[in-house]
Amino acid sequence: MSELNLILLGPPGSGKGTQGERLQEDFRLPYYATGDILRAAVRDETELGRIAKEYMDRGDLVPDGVIIGVIGERVEGEEAADGFILDGFPRTVGQAEALGEEMDKLDRSITAALLIDVSDDEVVRRLGGRRTCAKNGHIFHVDFDPPKNEGICDVCGARLIVRDDDKPDVIRHRLDTYHEKTSPLVDFYEERGVLKRVDGELDPDEVGNRIRALLATLRLEEEL
Ligand code: AMP
Repeated sequence: MSELNLILLGPPGSGKGTQGERLQEDFRLPYYATGDILRAAVRDETELGRIAKEYMDRGDLVPDGVIIGVIGERVEGEEAADGFILDGFPRTVGQAEALGEEMDKLDRSITAALLIDVSDDEVVRRLGGRRTCAKNGHIFHVDFDPPKNEGICDVCGARLIVRDDDKPDVIRHRLDTYHEKTSPLVDFYEERGVLKRVDGELDPDEVGNRIRALLATLRLEEEL
């Protein structure tokens, strides 16, 4: 396959980050997660972070005008010449249209939008138990992936916290936002013939295997 331009779609907590990390290792492609980029900007107190923080704390999306340029810059870069993996972008039809224009401008196209399908109940269960390292951002889960010592990061020994946007009210609001603003992208990419669905409630290794199988099929189809 000449290039692999991938989008990971799915509600918060669907495992996009986990699968994105695996894809990044498998395909040696740059991985751009807008949530991580924005959290780093908040930590570093940049202008972007200052603007984004209030939206993020409420579980709202930052305005399209703020985030579109952030991703545009990256997909245009040399690093992304053979492809990229986007996690958490696009999240609105406006963002998807802007990405489409950017791809047209570069004479490229989206290879696949992978929808990792997970029910709302499962999202609440997953995000409610999530604990994040205050220092390096590594994620644990009280039930599924507990740290060796409660409340302490296995990797660096820093304190584990509940992200403001993983608090119950905010989780519900993020889900409402997902259904209202992001789920229309399922139709958007289906109409363009690039939507691929994966059952995100399976074991993460199995989800990863299915994604690999889907991409292998795409590759074969391209060679035919
Ligand atoms: P995430 O880690 O992907 O769940 O993102 C955390 C938060 O960052 C979201 O709840 C939004 O406030 C913000 N964010 C991340 N990606 C986007 C995006 N593409 N558009 C708008 N806001 C975003």
